[in-house]
Amino acid sequence: MTWLNEFDDRLAALDAQTLRRRRREVVPEQGARLNVEGVSLLAFCSNDYLGLAQSPALREAVHAAVERYGVGSGASPMVSGHSVANGALERELAEAVGLPRALYFYAGYATNASIVPALVGEGDALFSDALNHACLIDGARLSKATVHRFRHADLAQLDAQLAASAARRKLVISDAVFSMDGDVAELAALHALCERHDALLLIDDAHGFGVLGPQGRGALAAVGLTGANLSPRILYMATLGKALGVAGAFVAGPERLVEWLLQKTRSYTYATAAPALLAEAVRAGLRCVLGEDGERRRHQLHARIAQLREGLARGVDPALDAAGWSLMPSDTAIQPLVIGDNEDALTVMASLREQGLWVPAIRPPTVPAGTARLRIALSAAHEAADVDALLRALRTAARTCAGASRELEEA
Ligand SMILES: *Cc1c(COP(=O)(O)O)cnc(C)c1O
Repeated sequence: MTWLNEFDDRLAALDAQTLRRRRREVVPEQGARLNVEGVSLLAFCSNDYLGLAQSPALREAVHAAVERYGVGSGASPMVSGHSVANGALERELAEAVGLPRALYFYAGYATNASIVPALVGEGDALFSDALNHACLIDGARLSKATVHRFRHADLAQLDAQLAASAARRKLVISDAVFSMDGDVAELAALHALCERHDALLLIDDAHGFGVLGPQGRGALAAVGLTGANLSPRILYMATLGKALGVAGAFVAGPERLVEWLLQKTRSYTYATAAPALLAEAVRAGLRCVLGEDGERRRHQLHARIAQLREGLARGVDPALDAAGWSLMPSDTAIQPLVIGDNEDALTVMASLREQGLWVPAIRPPTVPAGTARLRIALSAAHEAADVDALLRALRTAARTCAGASRELEEA
């Protein structure tokens, strides 16, 4: 009998564990609303933190770019795909983050999965925060370097691991803003450790670029490790599909490191270049981010973050207090509300959905067992009334869930 039938059993096993994932077809509506398979929902699940994905400035940039460049790029950037638009974007990105040179990629996943193997290989050592994004983990695996995982944000353990390693080439990799927790890595301390142990540091700022630092210039600019204080041992990576509102990614850093990546990154060499129309959309997004529009959007985002945190603080609502959910300490757009149990997290998500809101429940293995959570993502596209609606719906969900568990106990 063919083994191909096993896929049916494996899919059934996913169903049994309620781990089968399902996509929904969506159409954007006004503000932060999405039409989800015919139903209009207020969404708290997008990484479009500044609301730029629907912005008129970006739409206009794309229209103009299509007229000038057409649609596809036609080839790898190493052949004929490197448009003048992509080149200009690279120079503007480098300038924005205060680093000498940048390389523009069509996707963030592909960037990390292949720059790590370009930097280290067999016999080298990699040091990776336990909560790093999947693409850094996959890059580490592909590299064949020896991987040392350190406990999330535990720099004492990282220090000990670096000291104990006999490898000559060491690479430390970390998210700048952790995607499921919303906390920010201590970049200055990480850099100091890398100095002490002659290690290279790769930072993934997917969730910080556009939001953190002066004018949204990112997590590295926020700690002043750019421009005149440039470090020869930091590579900065960020994505363009989140706060920048488009798609793609870039890596920036010292000239010799970026030139090496240009030569050796397989997903750069062997993939069709991002179309110029996307590069032009990102250029327009970057102008917004660095300008007054960006300031206004970041201000709006921070007001929504403060509003949510005040509304979910202990002592505000008895039903919420009784539910025992805990809002993680985060001052970024990612506001995780830990529910704990997997089923409970799904129940709360379902209750919110019935009330017309879409907030994703995140479960293991994406997060550690026992910490299933709602990943509330805020955006400048949210109005104060939207966050009020979310707070009301969470209170209702807390009452409904408390009622359900009381019935269970009494039964
Ligand atoms: C989203 C994300 C990526 C992947 O970027 P894409 O451009 O979506 O492929 C990489 N790292 C982190 C931390 C992310 O959150």
